[in-house]
Amino acid sequence: MKIKVIKCLTDNYSYIIFDEKTSFAAVVDPSEADPIINQIEQNNLVLKYILNTHHHYDHVGGNKKLKEKYNCKVIGFEKDKHRIPDIDISLKDNEKSKNELFEFEVRHIPGHTSGHICIYIKQLNALFTGDTLFSLGCGRIFEGTYKEMYDSLNVIKKFPQYTKIYCGHEYTKKNSDFCLTIDKKNPNLIQKIDEIKRNLKNGTPTVPSTLHDELKCNIFLRSDNADIQKQLGINSGNPIETFTKLRDLKDNF
Ligand code: ZN
Ligand code: FE
Repeated sequence: MKIKVIKCLTDNYSYIIFDEKTSFAAVVDPSEADPIINQIEQNNLVLKYILNTHHHYDHVGGNKKLKEKYNCKVIGFEKDKHRIPDIDISLKDNEKSKNELFEFEVRHIPGHTSGHICIYIKQLNALFTGDTLFSLGCGRIFEGTYKEMYDSLNVIKKFPQYTKIYCGHEYTKKNSDFCLTIDKKNPNLIQKIDEIKRNLKNGTPTVPSTLHDELKCNIFLRSDNADIQKQLGINSGNPIETFTKLRDLKDNF
């Protein structure tokens, strides 16, 4: 089983998961159909499933055309079934599901949208985080509270450390610039940024990251860190207050 990173639109990532033996494939968050169709055709794959992390157009834009062409099944969150185009299979929070390709589970992680989920495939050590956790950043809060987003990031934090993080956008460089404004003495961050720069220079995606790296470098997962709180002038020690301040600063960065 392999995961292929597909660049879509301007800075989106979709992911094709495929089994080399059976040629069965699934796609996570097809922003648009054409780049997915190209890969499916080039590699003679059989597209069986579309998995959506949330309803935004840049994550579901390819659903309709792909389903029409391949008759694949669309999988998404139960409470978002009214706005995930062409959904066939709706899953609940914490629900596990098994198909011809893999077993996976979903977690409800609201904040960016009220129906956002992440998708975990244990056998691939892979977590698809959509627009909730990015490498060195997190998503904007459109339909939730700061507390909800904070709690959702904590759900992600509890996956095994070496889980690979496949996120929805290539925002890593801009995110790293923001992290540096507050956390510039973090040696792990500095090392991670070197790696990011090397990848981007070679035209290589900065994904997947690992949860291990994100825990050490992503400022939004470090709002309980005393140095970061001090840097932001937060005296209460309250991580949600710290997270709120970080998110507001990033919105205007
Ligand atoms: Zn989104
Ligand atoms: Fe997005």
